[in-house]
Amino acid sequence: MPAPLNESNAAGLAGQIRIVLVGTQHPGNIGAAARATKTMGLSRLVLVAPEKPLDDDAYRRSAGAEDLLEAAPVHATLAEAVADCRLVLGCTARSRRVQLEQLDPDAGAARLLRFAAEGPVALVFGRERTGLTNEELQLCHASVHIPSDPAFSSLNLAAAVQVLAYEVRRALLAAAPADAVVPRSDDLPATHEQVEGFFSQLAETLDAIDFHKGRTPDSAMRKLRRLFLRTDLTVNEVRLLRGVLADAQRMARLADESGRLSP
Ligand code: SAH
Repeated sequence: MPAPLNESNAAGLAGQIRIVLVGTQHPGNIGAAARATKTMGLSRLVLVAPEKPLDDDAYRRSAGAEDLLEAAPVHATLAEAVADCRLVLGCTARSRRVQLEQLDPDAGAARLLRFAAEGPVALVFGRERTGLTNEELQLCHASVHIPSDPAFSSLNLAAAVQVLAYEVRRALLAAAPADAVVPRSDDLPATHEQVEGFFSQLAETLDAIDFHKGRTPDSAMRKLRRLFLRTDLTVNEVRLLRGVLADAQRMARLADESGRLSP
């Protein structure tokens, strides 16, 4: 049996894990989420377009986790906050129309740790009233659902952060160095930004080869996004796919030019 992670390895991995709060409505919940995060040995809190600035209530409810509040970067969009992340998991109180793979908290925590050995990863939490939008969930590789009572499924934001941060801590304490810390440095998981670059080129290519034939591209793109996000693309795989697309785009241009030249 490999030895458990020691505290310094654990701290290295924990430093890669971002708790991202999107569109939070009550600053007090941000404070309580900071406390929940810090009690479990995590330190990276990230805010996306909070409705109100941090106030006394936020600081009061952080109860000693002011350092996390003060260090928390504020981004305008979720895409910006997770651009360099190699895994993005969205926490949802109920299942949505967006058919994402759904993980239990322990499976989500295990997957986060696996990817944290190779770069930043994110656990994303939504608004108190409305959760995450479908567009935001589409940026996630998978969703995480705390198996609450379906008839009353929505936890308070900070309570949800607490459950997930606890699972991450348990996974950290149980992880073996061999599977948690050694990066596969030859081929890292692609970052969010690299995968989004691929999706943009895929959309352009589908247009160029007239794949949609007058239909709206949304549904096909949604399905393709789901397919590729499920496979946890690596940097080299994104490069390969983009090479294939570049050639398809070149052939489409040639076909287009010869079509225009021929009588
Ligand atoms: N009314 C909202 C719930 C918002 S609760 C909705 O129906 O979506 C605020 C956030 O806490 C959610 O966006 C989610 O990130 C997290 N959360 C609450 N309950 C959860 C649960 N059972 N599983 C996972 N995340 C949960």
